[in-house]
Amino acid sequence: MSNVVLAVVAHPDDEILGCGGALARHVAEGDRVHILILGEGATARDPQRDPQARAVDIERLQQSARRASEILGAEPPEFAGLPDNRFDGMELLDITKRVESVVFELAPGIVYTHFVNDLNIDHRLTHHAVLAACRPMPGRSVRRLLAFEVCSSTELSPSDAPAFRPNHFVAIDGYLQRKLEALSAYDAEMHPFPHVRSPRALEALAQLRGAQVGVVAAEAFELVREIR
Ligand SMILES: [Zn+2]
Repeated sequence: MSNVVLAVVAHPDDEILGCGGALARHVAEGDRVHILILGEGATARDPQRDPQARAVDIERLQQSARRASEILGAEPPEFAGLPDNRFDGMELLDITKRVESVVFELAPGIVYTHFVNDLNIDHRLTHHAVLAACRPMPGRSVRRLLAFEVCSSTELSPSDAPAFRPNHFVAIDGYLQRKLEALSAYDAEMHPFPHVRSPRALEALAQLRGAQVGVVAAEAFELVREIR
């Protein structure tokens, strides 16, 4: 039976970094994959948010996201346009409602999102918004909720908060190249090795996560909730 899958991420590129391989595998297995990107990206580069001044960068990021989705075989991504790295200036309820409307519309069975104790504030608040939007109630669709890691952010979580401890692994042996290809759509966001956001470092992470569970390559997740 095919599933409806939804990835809810804070920034353009998080969906590929966190679960691009798993999404490509969902597509190959006949699932319908949707991506909701909450933040606009780019505007955090300025002292004051000015989406007008960053319109070209925002458009370029959206094009990258559309191209990356296409490479994965996912549906074209949806963009909520929230202020980049300033989600903490918003009411959590307003973020939750944006997620909720997409969850209600698509009725996904499987949802991927950020890890709760991530260093990045937008990542943390995205997790909270998704948790609230996917709360289990009669008639709700979400059966499995998974939290992914985003390198350069998840591993830098504050030391007084529980670290990312994956207990759910998706083998992506046949999908790692697809993930790296999708990442190449975000060329401008990537850096040369040994930067942690380099294709080589991401390949190494996939290989390490794979080796931890005895496969060639994997993505690692924390299972937040599963209802069967
Ligand atoms: Zn991010």
